[in-house]
Amino acid sequence: MITSKMDFAKNFLALKKLLFPGSCSLCLEQLDASQQTLCSNCIKKLPYVDNFCLRCAEPLPCIGICPACQKKPPNFRRCFTLCDYSYPVSSAIQQIKNNPYAAVTKQLSLLFAERLLADYKQKQIPQIIIPVPIHPLKILTRGFNQTETIASFISTRIGKSELLTHIFSRKYLGKAQQMQTRQQRMKLLATTFKINNQFEIKGKSIALVDDVITTGSTAKAATASLLKAGAKSVDLWCIAKTSWHNHSSSIKM
Ligand SMILES: [Zn+2]
Ligand SMILES: [Zn+2]
Repeated sequence: MITSKMDFAKNFLALKKLLFPGSCSLCLEQLDASQQTLCSNCIKKLPYVDNFCLRCAEPLPCIGICPACQKKPPNFRRCFTLCDYSYPVSSAIQQIKNNPYAAVTKQLSLLFAERLLADYKQKQIPQIIIPVPIHPLKILTRGFNQTETIASFISTRIGKSELLTHIFSRKYLGKAQQMQTRQQRMKLLATTFKINNQFEIKGKSIALVDDVITTGSTAKAATASLLKAGAKSVDLWCIAKTSWHNHSSSIKM
C-alpha cells in the first residue's frame, strides 16, 4: 500500500514536470522536461575555476600552490569548491539560504558531488561529512541550516562517507569583525565551535561542508576545533568561494 502511494506520488511528479517544466531558477528561461531547475546554458556558464591552488582553491594562472599557502600552509588538508562566488552562483546561494525547498540546492549539490567524485578518484574520500553548524538562534529565525541540506544531498550521492550533524555546534552569534582587535577576534573564533562528541571523530578524516566560504576564518576556526578534538584531517567542501586572500577579515554567520 505504502509502495503504491509512493509510486503514485512519483508518477504524479513526473507527469507534472512533463506538463509544467517551469523556468530556470537563474535566468528564468523555459525549461524542458529533461532539465531540473537550471537550464543547460546556465550550468555551462557557471563561474567554474579551472586553475586553482591545490590547498586553498584560490584561483591561479595555473594549477599549483599559491604563495600564501607556500608561506603558511592552512590547517585544513585541502579546500574543494564547485565555482567562484560570483553571479549567477551568488544569486543561487541566496535562494539556498532563504528557501529550505529551493530546487537549486539539490542541483548544485549534485553537480558538486560529481566534481568531488572526480577529484577524489585517486584519493581516499573523507570518512565523515559534517555540515558547518549555525547558531541555534539562527535556526529559530531561519528555520533550517542550509549546509545540512547540501551535505545530505552530497552524502547520498557519494554514498561512502557517514553524515554527522550532531557532534558539532556553534556558540556565538555575534560577528567577529565587530571585535576591536585582531587578538580579540582570534580568541572568539578559537572558541566559536563546541564539539559535542569527540569519540565519533577521533582519528577520522572529515569533510566540512559549507554553502559559501568568504574569508576562510570560520572554516579555519571550525577546522581547528575538529583537529583539537582528534580528527585526523579536515577537507573543506563549499559550493562557492570568494578569493579570501584579497578579502577583509570577517566571520560569516
Ligand atoms: Zn538558465
Ligand atoms: Zn593556497
